[in-house]
Amino acid sequence: MGEIRCHYCEKGEIMAAVGIEIAELSASTLYLFREQSHPGRCILAYNGHVGDITDLPDERRRQFFDDLVRAARAIQKAYNPDKINYAAFGDKMPHLHFHLTPKYRDAFEWGDVFAMNPKRIELADAEGGEAAEKIRRVL
Ligand SMILES: [Zn+2]
Repeated sequence: MGEIRCHYCEKGEIMAAVGIEIAELSASTLYLFREQSHPGRCILAYNGHVGDITDLPDERRRQFFDDLVRAARAIQKAYNPDKINYAAFGDKMPHLHFHLTPKYRDAFEWGDVFAMNPKRIELADAEGGEAAEKIRRVL
């Protein structure tokens, strides 16, 4: 068997370049997405190398969705977006994770599908840490 290279499992440098850990929840880990064109954008990654939501036993799936709702409520409290968009792709990264992307009326990509990584606003550690803390406080 080949070596598994999954940055969600490794939680190493690649993951640190993509996100800042906010908190470990019951079935998943919440990260602030460093690219913050949509203020408050996060990634929720399942704790375990599972490819799809359909692979989870019922109880774990419920826990994962409870985490998703908890994260979304915290983003709503911290950033007050007009809508949160959700997406689970994983075409090239077969580890269950959801993008939680707050959208703001008349702002970037409102009414549109959000880009995977628009590479416009990349937060450094200090700013990213503050944004992560803002969500952590209301989790
Ligand atoms: Zn993985």
